[in-house]
Amino acid sequence: MRRRRVVVLGATGSIGQSAQKVARDIPERMEIVGMSAHSSVEKLQAAAKDFPDAQIRISGNGNEEGLLELATLPEADLVLIAIVGTGGLKPALAAINAGKDIAVASKEILVMAGEAVMEAARRKGVKVLPVDSEHNAIYQCLEGRDPADVKRLILTASGGPFRKLPAAELENVTLAQALKHPTWEMGRKITIDSATLFNKGLEMIEARWLFDVEMARVDVIVHPQSIVHSMVEFIDSSVLAQLSVTDMCFPIQYAVTWPERVPNRLPSIDFAALAKLEFEAPRWADFPALSLARWAGEASGTLPAVLNAANEIAVAAFLESRCAFPAIWRTVERVMREHTLIAAPELDAILCADSWARTRAGELLGV
Ligand code: MG
Repeated sequence: MRRRRVVVLGATGSIGQSAQKVARDIPERMEIVGMSAHSSVEKLQAAAKDFPDAQIRISGNGNEEGLLELATLPEADLVLIAIVGTGGLKPALAAINAGKDIAVASKEILVMAGEAVMEAARRKGVKVLPVDSEHNAIYQCLEGRDPADVKRLILTASGGPFRKLPAAELENVTLAQALKHPTWEMGRKITIDSATLFNKGLEMIEARWLFDVEMARVDVIVHPQSIVHSMVEFIDSSVLAQLSVTDMCFPIQYAVTWPERVPNRLPSIDFAALAKLEFEAPRWADFPALSLARWAGEASGTLPAVLNAANEIAVAAFLESRCAFPAIWRTVERVMREHTLIAAPELDAILCADSWARTRAGELLGV
């Protein structure tokens, strides 16, 4: 039995709070030795009462040093990165270079720099453990199996609040409607991403790098109940799925205790009470985010970073009621088409493409 000493970057967000809950639930297996928050000073101080030995930092806009210090903290052996946006990228690489395993909750890390991050992890012999429920499910189904044994990774998608909405009505979707997610409680950005299906698109790209399978073998199925968190179909056409009630504590605990399983106080699935599990094909034509992500993942290079950055700007504009809902994917597509792709980019080229895409998306949206 091993006690993991964990740094939580982004401790006051929804994933960070679930991580604290896991640490309180299995203290013999998880100790929080460092925590950062972007700006919620009081929330972080309140959290620190439960973990008095943890180092704390406020990252704000620009305290990159504080994050890098925590990411490379000598006493830490696992760094959970749950920072919204691109701010987690440098700390992730710093943690890997310091020989620490990383648990990834920030999508940007693998979307923008999947190739570079996985390569750095291989070189250092450290693990990249996914905390997103879908990738964590696939990790559990694969258990270190060779990517050559995989026929398809099947990411499940709740379908978001507009799963059944006619395509023409997507034009007039309001912010309040888009913020109403049927199954998960999450931050505003990711909730909008779930409504456009960009969240699933970003997850397709993450899966491609995390599990080293090309985009053609990354599939999506809509599963409104969000009980099956994802599946793996093997070359013998046999499928393994991972199921649990919807609570981010499950994937966080698995990332922390991996490769072991330990008892906790989380609820079991009541199969008798679950009337049914449904599956349906995603509406590829009506939700272009999926095809745009597939394109970005296939082309790779700087294109996934461009997709991610343009989406972030467009979502921010939508959250401020400054553009219509479909303008999100229309803007992303236009910026992607205008981009001159750089293959196998270094971190600098990735960040450069990111900032170009932000500017360009802002211009197109007039924000
Ligand atoms: Mg997810």
